[in-house]
Amino acid sequence: MFKGILIHKDDQGYRAALQDIDPALLPEGNVTVRVAHSTLNFKDALAITGQSPVVRKFPMVPGIDLAGTVEHSEHPDWQVGDAVVLNGWGVGEAHWGGLAQRARLNGDWLVPLPPAFSTAQAMAIGTAGYTAMLCVLALERHGLKPGDGEVLVTGAAGGVGSVAVALLARLGYRVVAVTGRPQEADYLQQLGAAEVLERAAFSSAGKPLSKERWAGAVDTVGSHTLANVCAAMRYRGVVTACGLAGGMDLPATVAPFILRGVTMAGVDSVMCPRADRLLAWQRLATDLDVDKLALITQHIGLAEAIPMARRLLDGQVRGRVVVDVNA
Ligand code: NDP
Repeated sequence: MFKGILIHKDDQGYRAALQDIDPALLPEGNVTVRVAHSTLNFKDALAITGQSPVVRKFPMVPGIDLAGTVEHSEHPDWQVGDAVVLNGWGVGEAHWGGLAQRARLNGDWLVPLPPAFSTAQAMAIGTAGYTAMLCVLALERHGLKPGDGEVLVTGAAGGVGSVAVALLARLGYRVVAVTGRPQEADYLQQLGAAEVLERAAFSSAGKPLSKERWAGAVDTVGSHTLANVCAAMRYRGVVTACGLAGGMDLPATVAPFILRGVTMAGVDSVMCPRADRLLAWQRLATDLDVDKLALITQHIGLAEAIPMARRLLDGQVRGRVVVDVNA
């Protein structure tokens, strides 16, 4: 038996519980991983609490991320003992995920653990950090350079936001962070933010166009926030849209796009092609300051992941949460 969180939905309702699981129940797959660490992302918190219908099969082991060691492989790329990382591919939603001591997966979904990171550090990054890196890569692909002007990060004290601030500051950008938690201003400055702005200035309906300020932006919030960010982009600025922490709607106009040539680049981590994942992890290994990563991260055991999910959705968790599945 191994320990894991299982989500059930039946006559007794929707519930997540830590329990002993029979390995015979593991789903099909050609690689079995002994999980060392997982993490709690926004989506994991939605799955554990049942607040949004992200789980598509029951019972389900949540956890869209894991890092560990290959225990059994029938896949040509992976040998017993290889250190691996998994992010996304519907794991923790439609296929049993990482918040358990074992996972059975399709070997095509795995990437090697970068030698720069321990399994705990890889999970401190997790989908949130790898998505932040995908956002940086998208900004670069659209030509953004540090000399072009300020870069805004919204939802900055959250997981994606914290890693985005740390990465962009390290790359030489002047980073402006937006947060609803002014008490986290010192934290955001330690990560490298040059200025911290109040969330309230972004979260209600604004003008179609406002004063041009941002050369680039990483938005994790959506809704009015994203609309207001678009309205204040500089001529030919680039904004990456990756999140919906403030809402899935986008009450914007086309004005920034047709009058200022603004680009909005969508970022998806779940089905992201393997080559882009490998590049993102390679860039994380070179561009993310591991001391900053330590500042971003808190560590918990598997049993604490269930109450922590509620706290994360209530906006009480700063940065990233690493789950030691064997603690
Ligand atoms: P977190 O919960 O760690 O961070 C979200 C942050 O958003 C909060 O810390 C808070 O930042 C801010 N926020 C929360 N609620 C609101 C609100 N009502 N209005 C404005 N801001 C709000 O989540 P993650 O960083 O893990 O994920 C951020 C978003 O990105 C989520 O929507 C997630 O689903 C999405 N995401 C998308 C991915 C993709 O593949 N496209 C991959 C990973 C995440 P602060 O306290 O600083 O204001």
